Order: sequence, then C-alpha cells, then structure tokens
Amino acid sequence: MTLSPDFFGISYLAASIFFILGLKGLSSHRTALRGNLFAMLGMALAIVATLLQPEVHHYIYIAAGIIGGGIVGIAIATKIEMTAMPQLVAAFHSFVGLSAVLVAIGTYFSHQANGHLDKVLLFELSAGSIIGAITFTGSLVAFGKLQEILGSNPLVFPGQHYLNLALTLVALGFGANFMMANHFPSFLIMTGISLLLGFLLVLPIGGADMPVVVSMLNSYSGWAASATGFTLANNLLITTGALVGASGAILSYIMCKAMNRSIISVILGGFGGEHAASPHASAAGKPVKSVSAEDLAFALENSSKVIIVPGYGMAVSQAQHAIKELFQIMKEKNIDVKFAIHPVAGRMPGHMNVLLAESEIPHEIVFEMDEINNEFSTCDVAFVIGANDVVNPAAKSDKTSPLYGMPILDVYKARNIFISKRSMKAGYAGVDNALFYYPNCSLVFGDSKVTCEAIVAALKDSH
Ligand code: NDP
Repeated sequence: MTLSPDFFGISYLAASIFFILGLKGLSSHRTALRGNLFAMLGMALAIVATLLQPEVHHYIYIAAGIIGGGIVGIAIATKIEMTAMPQLVAAFHSFVGLSAVLVAIGTYFSHQANGHLDKVLLFELSAGSIIGAITFTGSLVAFGKLQEILGSNPLVFPGQHYLNLALTLVALGFGANFMMANHFPSFLIMTGISLLLGFLLVLPIGGADMPVVVSMLNSYSGWAASATGFTLANNLLITTGALVGASGAILSYIMCKAMNRSIISVILGGFGGEHAASPHASAAGKPVKSVSAEDLAFALENSSKVIIVPGYGMAVSQAQHAIKELFQIMKEKNIDVKFAIHPVAGRMPGHMNVLLAESEIPHEIVFEMDEINNEFSTCDVAFVIGANDVVNPAAKSDKTSPLYGMPILDVYKARNIFISKRSMKAGYAGVDNALFYYPNCSLVFGDSKVTCEAIVAALKDSH
C-alpha cells in the first residue's frame, strides 16, 4: 500500500501541534503532566509516520536502534538522581550535536553516489555540521563541569576572544570552499575546527553561569536538528528543531535577566566564577553562630510568619518530605508559612518546584522571587534549607563578588535567619556567603533532612 504525501503532511502537522501544546503545558506545573502527555503523543505520531515513509525499506537497523536506545534510556531514567538531571540533559544534547554531524557525513556520501550534490545541499550540510560539532563538544564540557569531572572555574587566557573569532572565520572559510568546490577535506577541517570551538566556548564559562549554558546548548541542539531537517527534507524535523532552538534561546534570555547577566557576555565566556578560587576576604575568618535543631524549633514555634527558602542542599538530602511534615505541624500551630523560590535555585530551572510538588506542598504557598521578596522584612524567621548562592547579599553589595548583579532572595532582611547546611563550604559559585556572619543569622549544621526531622520531633514533643 502506498500512502499519499498528504498523509505524511497531515501527520507531521498534527505532531507539530502536539509539540506546541506540550511546550505550552510545560510552562506551568499545574499543566506540566498534560504537556508531557501531548509531547509523547506527538513523538509517537512522528515516529510511526516516519516509519511508514516510502524511503524506509529496511526496518532491522531502525528496530535495533529503537530497542537499544530504549533499553539504555529506561535504565538511565530509572537510575538518575534528580540532582544529576542538568548533566544528563547536557549529555543528551551532545548526542543531538553528534548525530547532526554524522547525518551530514552520511547524506554527503549517499548523495555523492547518486550525483545529487548541489550548492544548497552543501550549504545545509556545512551549517548542520558546524552547529552540531559546537553543540557536541560544548555539551561534553558542560557535562564535565556539572559532573565535577572538570573544575567549575572559568578557564580564561589572554586573547581568547580573538582566538575564537579567528577560528570561527577559518571554519567559515573552509565551509565556503566545501560549498563552492565540493571539496570534502574542507568539510572535515571545518568540522574539526568547530569541535575545537565547542570546547573553547564553554571552558571559559564559570559555574554561576552554567544554567544559562545548558539552556543555550539546548537551543543550539534544536538549531542543529533543524539544519538536519533541511538536509533530509523533513518538515517535522525543521519545525521541531526550530521549536527547541527558539524555546532554549528564550529560556536563556529569561535566565540571563534573572541573574542580571548579559547574554552576550555569557556566550563569549569568562564570566561567573573569576573569584571562585579565593573565598570572600571580607567575610572569611569571622565567627558564626551555631544552634541546634531544637533551638530552631523553639524559634519557629514562637513565630507568626515563617518563610522557607529551599536550595540545592534540599535536593541532595531529599528533605522535601520532612519539610512537608514540618509545614503541616506549623500550620496546625497557626503559623503562616510560605516558600520562596529563586529562579536558579538547585541545579536546573524549576528544580525546587518539582521537589516541593513531589511532596505535595500546596502550590498556593510557593512563591517566585519577585512575588515574595518584599515579605522578608515582615517575617519572624527565614529558614534557609540548603540554599547558599541565591541568598548571598554580596550579590547586592560587593562589586568584587562574581555573584554581583544577580538578583537574590532578600533573606537578609528577615528578623531572624536560620540556615541548614553541613559545613562552612561554599555553594556552586564557590564564594563565601556574607549572610552567615550577620548578627541575626544562626547556622544549624547537619544534613537538612536530619535537621528537619529533628525539628518536627521537637515540635511534636512540645504539643
Ligand atoms: P548552592 O549550590 O549555592 O548551595 C547549596 C548548599 O547546600 C551548599 O552550601 C551546601 O553546603 C548545602 N548542602 C549540600 N548538601 C547538603 C545536605 N545534604 N544537607 C544540607 N545542606 C547541604 O545552591 P543554591 O540553590 O543556593 O544555588 C544554586 C547555584 O547553582 C547557583 O550558583 C546557580 O547559578 C547554580 N546552578 C543552577 C542551575 C539551575 O538551573 N538552577 C544549574 C547549574 C548551576 P554544605 O556542603 O556545607 O552542606
């Protein structure tokens, strides 16, 4: 049976609509589940329609790929910790980049065999391979930094931007030669330089800017897929790639705004951790006040308004269920409890929202930074659970801090501040936190889950 081209056009259009509905659903946690279902439906439709294409003759390699990839995917999805999600995303982006390069090479040889190599196709192959190669190695470096195989400090050296600019121009020159003269060695040199550029562009980016990098690479991988769509004359791949590319670029822009960074500075690199190696001299060495979980329970019990600020440490200790119990017991005691979420708290956008939703903390009491920042001055206790960089007042007051300019949660304005963490170690950006040394701040040392459970026990005892 031969299916009409309209069948494929309509199927691909329907799949694109499902992807758009999926993205729309993912914009709010209330509709995220439905959004995911739409996206899965769109992907299933896209795969089935593609398998029915008349060009597909042999299913054996495709089946091997789907089954092999499916097994690896399921194994990773069931094992992966929530805290390791950003590096997993970076690793997956690297596959998208690599496949764009491999598709370009494969298409070149198959079209060479049947003599269909025009300049437009050679241009598409160059574009796909350049973007794919940069995405591949850039994502590998991002993976290495997030997995802490590579240091999170930026690697900066003199003349770096000029070197990158020169390499970009040389790569484009070889790409132009490949297009005009159909000279395959030029294609290989162009791809090799692009692989090097991926390394050089991400290595200079420091830890504090890593979320933006992951989102930018997400965008690049979308554009690489879109370029591959042109190469394969596949409309669905063009639209889907453009959706991923555009949404990644918009997310990067929003994150840059939230961190008060210029997107150009982040892309060019060398920002976000220049001082990470030397903890803040102004604050280091000063004494801190350390209290027990029971002391904190007493302070909470005598408060009428408490704001809880979760951060990466909550994810590490998986404290969200103990926090839910803490919230319930405080509610029973008529204490007004709210949660404050910073846009880059944790290790991926929405990280804290996902964990709080998992423990069924009502979303009406979970507030974004801009919604709650003016309430810190009216609360009795701000309880910071495993957050560090996102509450560091140096971001407002210390021009020498690598965090300077990043909007923070105004925890320092609270009447009393309690911070749950295990040691005096710095957060992701590697800088000391001036907040620890405030006279109204106390540290509760220990794993956050253990601390929260101890507070719950103390509050129950005082019933
Ligand atoms: P931070 O990384 O600044 O700090 C986390 C704190 O949690 C540390 O000080 C650590 O201190 C503490 N901690 C770790 N494990 C535990 C535990 N088991 N129990 C108690 N405390 C613990 O986290 P924030 O959420 O404040 O900030 C996020 C940072 O990550 C920002 O710099 C952001 O730019 C960056 N980032 C964000 C991404 C995103 O998309 N959200 C992606 C990648 C990076 P100690 O070791 O002493 O316990």
